[in-house]
Amino acid sequence: MILFFQPVFVDKIWGGNKLKELFNYSTTNNCGEVWGISAHKNGESIVINGKYKGDKLSSLYTNHKELFGHYKGGFFPILVKLIDAKKDLSIQVHPNDEQAKKYNSLGKTECWYILNTEKDTDIIIGHNAKTKEELTNYINKNEYSNLLNKFKIKTGDYFYIDSGTIHAICGGTVLLEVQQSSDITFRIYDYDRLDFENNLRELHITESLDCIKIPDNKVKRNHDNKYFNYEIISVSGEESYVATIHGDYIVVLEGKGFINNEPCKAGDFIMVSSKDEYRIKGTIKFQRTWF
Ligand code: ZN
Repeated sequence: MILFFQPVFVDKIWGGNKLKELFNYSTTNNCGEVWGISAHKNGESIVINGKYKGDKLSSLYTNHKELFGHYKGGFFPILVKLIDAKKDLSIQVHPNDEQAKKYNSLGKTECWYILNTEKDTDIIIGHNAKTKEELTNYINKNEYSNLLNKFKIKTGDYFYIDSGTIHAICGGTVLLEVQQSSDITFRIYDYDRLDFENNLRELHITESLDCIKIPDNKVKRNHDNKYFNYEIISVSGEESYVATIHGDYIVVLEGKGFINNEPCKAGDFIMVSSKDEYRIKGTIKFQRTWF
């Protein structure tokens, strides 16, 4: 079965209009995130075609386990989103599964595939402190230039951000994120910015210090992990695939065509249920995720 989802648009103080331009979405000019495949309560995918039209992904996951190959897990495990960072995101960290239990959530390991960057765009992943004391000192003094591991990125790069890794997407970046289904972010530094209501955004220094791995100065450019996998595929003509046991989760990144007989285009979010065969026809670049 092929299910198309309605994307959820989320305004952010650091968001922009790139997702609107690239994918023709009807959004504001502050759109920071588009949640495309999500069973998270903070932004749920709703089916827009076929016999489950109008249903939430979370209720399908609960009531139609067969579509997901009877995956054993209380939560639908992944969340796929597009991010437009017109301005810098906060310097942040996410908890692992164990640390997130008290929030009744999964941890948040994430992967980034860079779709678009401006010239000389940076990214921050990891830090140079060798002990917790050293890390605390840097943070207390707001001395981030020596602490953080910052480097240039380009379109097509991908990075694996294990939970506990300090990171920040910097202004000028559009990316595709595959992550565990979680919405817990601990902010370490936020450039003293105000939110849409003119309040300083909250920081979470204690929680962050409990999560950040030390030492952690190695940038992982592969995305092998126990939570999910993904690949980027370009089709010109026609190709056939078989969905994995727990289903395939697709984001169309460029072009247009058909998935089986349904038209699809850049910006669409699609699920193919457990072990179903599907054909992609057209000139299309897409990302396929499985877990
Ligand atoms: Zn993050």
